[in-house]
Formats: sequence, C-alpha cells, structure tokens
Amino acid sequence: MNPDLKQLIRLQSIDLSIQQLRTRIDKFPGISKALDEKLRSAQAAVDTAKEKAKSNQGTRKRLETEISGIETKISKYRDQMMAVKTNEEYRALQHEIEHAQQAIRKLEDDVLNLMMEAENGQADLHAAEARLKQDQQNVNAERKQLEEDNKRDLSALESYLKERKEIQTSVSPDLISRYERVRKHRGGIGVAAARNEVCEICQVRIRPQVFQEIRRNDQIIACDACQRILYDPENLDHPFEVA
Ligand SMILES: [Zn+2]
Repeated sequence: MNPDLKQLIRLQSIDLSIQQLRTRIDKFPGISKALDEKLRSAQAAVDTAKEKAKSNQGTRKRLETEISGIETKISKYRDQMMAVKTNEEYRALQHEIEHAQQAIRKLEDDVLNLMMEAENGQADLHAAEARLKQDQQNVNAERKQLEEDNKRDLSALESYLKERKEIQTSVSPDLISRYERVRKHRGGIGVAAARNEVCEICQVRIRPQVFQEIRRNDQIIACDACQRILYDPENLDHPFEVA
C-alpha cells in the first residue's frame, strides 16, 4: 500500500475525531454554566420562601402590637367611664370602646389569616429546600461526570494533535496541502472511500478502469467530481482503524 495514502487515511480519521472533540470541548463552559443556573434558581426559591416567612412574621408582630395598643386604650376608656358625670359622656366612651373592639376583631382576623398563610409558606419552604438539596446532589454528580469527560476529551485532543503533527512531517508537504485544501472546501473531508465504483462521499460514479487502480491502494488518485483522495477500504494492508 502507498505509505502516503495510508497516512492520509489515518489523518482524515484523526481530523474527524478532532472536530468531534472540539465541538464537545466548546460546549463544556455552557453546560457548566447551565448547571450553576439550575442551582441558582433552586436557591432563589428557598430564599423567596424564607423572605415570605420573615415578612409574614413581621406583619403579625406589628398587628399584635397594634391590638395590645388598642386594648390599653379600651382599659383607659373603662377607667374614664368610672369618672364620667353625664350619660352623654358615658355613651360616648361606650361608643369608643365598641369601635375599638371592632378594630381588634378585624386585626385578629388578619392575624389568623397570616397564621394560615405562614403554615402554607412553611410547607413551600420545606419543598423548596428539599428540591435544592436534590438539585445539589444531581448537579454535583453531573458536574463530576462532565469534568471527567472534559478532561478525557482534552487529553485525547492533545494526543490526536501530536499524532497529526507526526503525520504532517512524514507525508510530502504538497500532498498535505492538497489534502488540507480539499478538506477545507469539502466539509472537512479530504479522503473518501471508493465502493462499488462510486465515491462514497459525493456518490459520483468512478470509471471502471480508474476504480481498478484505486483498488490497489498504491497511488494517490482523486475523485473527478469532488477532488477527494480515494482509497479502497476493502483492500488495506492493515485494518482501517477508526478512532
Ligand atoms: Zn467524490
């Protein structure tokens, strides 16, 4: 087999692997960021639930202070009632007391509603905390896997780039630049298999005589249609190794 052809076939396989690895490596920061975002939104739900509980408690405390303030006022009115001289003054105070009692009833209703709200809020908080905990576990596991994959991809990329360099120095520069040129203009593929008298990538027929030459894999022959360098995958000296 033509040694340059053999090297180009390997180079093509390496380049496809490099392309795949780079696509995955480029996606890594985005996926990592999405994991952070997932945790942030779960944490935000917990914070919101806590904030709500705190505000509920604050409002309740304020209403209770208001109630006890009104109660103090009522007991003052009662003291004044003891001292009044006229029925009119007495009735006026009685009216004030009724008014204040009404206000207390309204405030007590509000407190009761807030207490029920707080109970629901507590359930929401527990659910949010449970979700955060679950998300943290999931994200940690996903991140660990992601980082392991990324590390493996980076080291595979490094070894492919090294092998690529070795091939580049062992094949004639003309042939390398020819391969690069075709690859650049033909969707990243500069070497194609020929099967059944057809170029496997562009699907254009190959003349039977040329196909017989290609089958020997002992010279550099390009597809007339797409210019990709052709080889017979059934007739390699050594099994074609797909990376
Ligand atoms: Zn072709």
